[in-house]
Amino acid sequence: MTARAAAGVLLGGAGRQASRRADHGVRGLASASAAREAPAEERCRLLVVGGGTGGCALAARFSRALGPGQVVVLEPADTHYYQPMFTLVGGGVKPLSASRRPMRQVLPARAKWIQDAAAAFRPEEDLVVTAGGRRLRYDYLIVAMGLQLRFEDVPGLREALALPGSGVGSNYSPLHVEKTWAALRELREGKALFTFPNTPIKCAGAPQKILYLADDHLRRAGRRDAVRLHYHTSLADIFGVKHYANALWPIVKERDIHVALRSELVEVKAEQKQAVFRDLDHPERRTTLEYSFLHATPPQGPPDALRECAALADPASGYLAVDRATLRHARFRNVFGVGDCTNVPTSKTAAAVAAQSAVVHAGLAAAMRGRESATSGYDGYTSCPLVTARGRCVLAEFDFDGQPLETFPLDQRRERWTMYQVKATFMPILYWHLMLRGYWGGPRPMRKILHLGMCR
Ligand SMILES: Cc1cc2nc3c(=O)[nH]c(=O)nc-3n(C[C@H](O)[C@H](O)[C@H](O)COP(=O)(O)OP(=O)(O)OC[C@H]3O[C@@H](n4cnc5c(N)ncnc54)[C@H](O)[C@@H]3O)c2cc1C
Repeated sequence: MTARAAAGVLLGGAGRQASRRADHGVRGLASASAAREAPAEERCRLLVVGGGTGGCALAARFSRALGPGQVVVLEPADTHYYQPMFTLVGGGVKPLSASRRPMRQVLPARAKWIQDAAAAFRPEEDLVVTAGGRRLRYDYLIVAMGLQLRFEDVPGLREALALPGSGVGSNYSPLHVEKTWAALRELREGKALFTFPNTPIKCAGAPQKILYLADDHLRRAGRRDAVRLHYHTSLADIFGVKHYANALWPIVKERDIHVALRSELVEVKAEQKQAVFRDLDHPERRTTLEYSFLHATPPQGPPDALRECAALADPASGYLAVDRATLRHARFRNVFGVGDCTNVPTSKTAAAVAAQSAVVHAGLAAAMRGRESATSGYDGYTSCPLVTARGRCVLAEFDFDGQPLETFPLDQRRERWTMYQVKATFMPILYWHLMLRGYWGGPRPMRKILHLGMCR
């Protein structure tokens, strides 16, 4: 698999259209290599679909408990990315190489890795059919296949990202994140646009983190006065949680950043360097802006294979339908979900995956013993380290109701150097060494200790 195909697979999922296949490569690639020697049918105790953040962490937990060969991970990509680092890569703080490791190195040695993609789910038969034609039967299934980036939903965006020197980048894909920093370095004057699409996305803070890093870079380079910064978001507020939105408004005002709410990017005209926005409250109103730099956050949605399985998917969103407290499927009790591919109503982050993985581990281990889980359910815990400059960060942590669930006994709404160190230095170590090995289930125990037990 080429690095380009691997990157596309990881973050884009399997595509239906030929153009998307060229970028993401799942079906064509898997069928080319795997179909030749695909055995008729294989069986396992636990099948984990997806070897990203959640799949890798849960495969590690269960392969340790169940022993060698009992857990199969179905994962097409040969590279694993620590995606939260993309913000710092796009902002010129870290190289892309710091965010990636070979998949073989991070998947647990006791699990069997099948390098192929799920093409169809048949939960009535406890069966997953792969793009390469394998038929995988399971006793239990964990769906951890992330979400699908939909760059193609914005006409002209793919072309703009492919055009050298276009001034367009996107931190959302390893294929495009380095273009962000390359374009920022070249930015001398004019308008810089940053967008947030009209769909749920992973890490809802990331579209504005790069805005602040761009502001910081331009100030250090002495060019800030020559560049106007515009943040166009489909949301009705600068951030979905009021507690933190109230802290972010003074920051954008102080830095002279123009914010357009309920404004969606609907077209990019790469040759003219123009971006077209739609006013979501008055859809007939469109505004065309010229840009020197554009950071685009693509629309995002459920993976095709999941959306196409009516028995598993939430009919409204197409994401895996699970109970929000147990992450277990209501109808197929041997199916659990974790992370971005589920319909759990919380912000889609690796931090949420950590807390969810502890709940799934407890629930599935109990189910394997024929019992109900004794641990408390998932409370929606998620976190977003809102990097507001190099060396500054507001660490947002909250639950299903948008109520703060903060780890540290200090006001996390304030920009702090310590929180930036947590984001840039501590979290990557935690991710590679504890989380992917199944030893990190979120900060709840730490929160209890630091708050002397006086918290949830
Ligand atoms: C720019 C950016 C910044 C972010 N910042 C933060 C942050 O600061 N903090 C934070 O907590 N989170 C952050 N996140 C979000 C976080 O990275 C994701 O929420 C998290 O990685 C989701 O984990 P997952 O296991 O659900 O999906 P993923 O880690 O995306 O894994 C999904 C896996 O499924 C595989 N797959 C896809 N299709 C198939 C198929 N058909 N069959 C089998 N396998 C398949 C993929 O190849 C992939 O390996 C950020 C993300 C981005 C892009």
